[in-house]
Amino acid sequence: MNAFEAIGLSEALVKATADLGFVTPSEIQEKAIPILLSGTTDFVGLAQTGTGKTAAFGLPLLQLIDADAKYPQALIVCPTRELCLQISNDIRDYKKHMKGVSVEPVYGGASIMMQIKALKAGVQIVVATPGRLIDMIERKAVNLEKIKYVVLDEADEMLNMGFRDDIEFVLKNAINRESIWLFSATMPTEVRAIAKNFMDSPKEITVGKKNTGNVNIDHQYYITSSQNRYETLKRLIDFNPGMYGIVFCRTRLNCQEVTEKLVKEGYDIEALHGDLTQQQRDKVMLRFRQKSLQLIVATDVAARGIDVEGITHVINYELPDEMEVYTHRSGRTARAGKSGICISILHTKEVGKVRHLERMVNAQFHKMDVPSGSDVCRKQFFNFMDKLIAVDVTEGEFATYMPALIEKFADLSKEDILQRVASIEFSQLLKYYENAYDLNARTDGRREVGDTRHNGFSKLFVNLGSKDGFTKGQFLQFILDETGLKKEVLGRIDIREMNTFFEVDSESAPLMIKKFDGADFEGRQIRMNDADSGGPKGRTGSGGSRGGSREGYGRERSFAPSDRGGSRGGSGGGYGGGGSSYGGSRSSGSSSGGSRNKYDDRSGNDVQRKRR
Ligand code: AMP
Repeated sequence: MNAFEAIGLSEALVKATADLGFVTPSEIQEKAIPILLSGTTDFVGLAQTGTGKTAAFGLPLLQLIDADAKYPQALIVCPTRELCLQISNDIRDYKKHMKGVSVEPVYGGASIMMQIKALKAGVQIVVATPGRLIDMIERKAVNLEKIKYVVLDEADEMLNMGFRDDIEFVLKNAINRESIWLFSATMPTEVRAIAKNFMDSPKEITVGKKNTGNVNIDHQYYITSSQNRYETLKRLIDFNPGMYGIVFCRTRLNCQEVTEKLVKEGYDIEALHGDLTQQQRDKVMLRFRQKSLQLIVATDVAARGIDVEGITHVINYELPDEMEVYTHRSGRTARAGKSGICISILHTKEVGKVRHLERMVNAQFHKMDVPSGSDVCRKQFFNFMDKLIAVDVTEGEFATYMPALIEKFADLSKEDILQRVASIEFSQLLKYYENAYDLNARTDGRREVGDTRHNGFSKLFVNLGSKDGFTKGQFLQFILDETGLKKEVLGRIDIREMNTFFEVDSESAPLMIKKFDGADFEGRQIRMNDADSGGPKGRTGSGGSRGGSREGYGRERSFAPSDRGGSRGGSGGGYGGGGSSYGGSRSSGSSSGGSRNKYDDRSGNDVQRKRR
């Protein structure tokens, strides 16, 4: 007897599993399917993505529903539209040999009218994201009273995303349900509470994780707005002094642009893409292998087949168009038993893709915060100090100088010397990062991921800052006095020297912009716009002059020329000094070398950016 038949599945479903190449049921399928086929037992499955859990609930659901009854009988609720589509597609595969059964995905961001129309055609299984499901229920496109089976997939994730009320609403109102099946990778208190409050003595099954991906890769992602993508990349490079890796871009043009910007700012980086001749590419690869380059910025095509030892990081500056390409990219690191990190820089609308990727590589992704300026400083600082302690002093001809040095430093304590070293090494870096702004995009609202206005606030930019005498309190007062609005309309306020980013209730934002943009402030024209669509780059030359301060802002930040090509072997603003794998061997004569360094040139860019 076929193993799927043995656990109670119908012939049509067994045939479908064979078509899909499933030979034996996975652990969760073997344990869950016999229980779920009873139809009346509440169930909790602790299983991660990649364990075969979709089939574990999808197959029994198909067997239980009544194909002749043309209305929704089963509801699968899941956190993202990608997962929603994936589940629907999987179920479509499983029902291949069944007649009269229909499944429909229902998710935000697509036409609700089309989805309602599809449901009316007689769908038995609805796969939905919580927000859109509630919409559907309110529009009476789904009648909860007729639902017999409710499946909550990735329950922990849904609760994390703030969908608790929506889920509870569904469970409370599905009054004629016969069972609830809850799947979750973890069992935090909130998930336990759902089980306790809504389920009747659920059977609980835990399965281990099947992991076919490279177990040594740590998949991380950072969420930022699309205009902060480059800044985020730069900050991550600065935060990882020992980074040796490949940055992937989608197009040659992006690849070239990112490389040019980074090179201009003093990073040891080159591009690798199809516009280069074979000879040029070989040269880049040679330098990369020799670790003269910290990073290469590559397109997928150009990087095909690259096998370099010791790559610590793969960075998806942009996700690939084809998700499968992610596996090829990430596989460049963690080779030969080593571990590695694969970073993806995402903007808010791409977050939903993470679930899809997790399923694909069979591994959990970790959401990370983009480091703050002070995080970067601390990291660079201690990295340098560790290197100072570890440096091999046996090779140099220092002995002859030591008596003179000891005499010269006679009046300085160890603390004095450390302070001076720190000051020389880090004062510019600290200055550069002291006003660095938060690059993390917020994704904590109750709406579905991908909705940038999820928290009900819009982020606005205005060209007024502390230079104009504003503190947070004064700024708040100024805005409220001028508009007559209440304090509650304002969210976070981030005052910088020359400008301010602040959150405003989305409904009040247009009014705010109308009121302030173009208005006069002490003889200067105010510029205010939506930071997510325009930001500081909004318009040209409308800001008027604030005197010489902007120019000074940039120049103050330059390192002394001796910082490069000096004792640290040509390292830039700190990262090279501590580079574990490539630090010492990096050539100071690289294209990014010269006397420039990351922080002096970058400050120039800041001036330009602010002035644009
Ligand atoms: P899931 O955990 O549902 O995301 O499934 C992970 C992957 O395992 C999917 O690509 C499924 O098609 C596959 N899969 C599920 N069940 C089995 C099985 N019994 N045998 C082989 N592959 C399976």
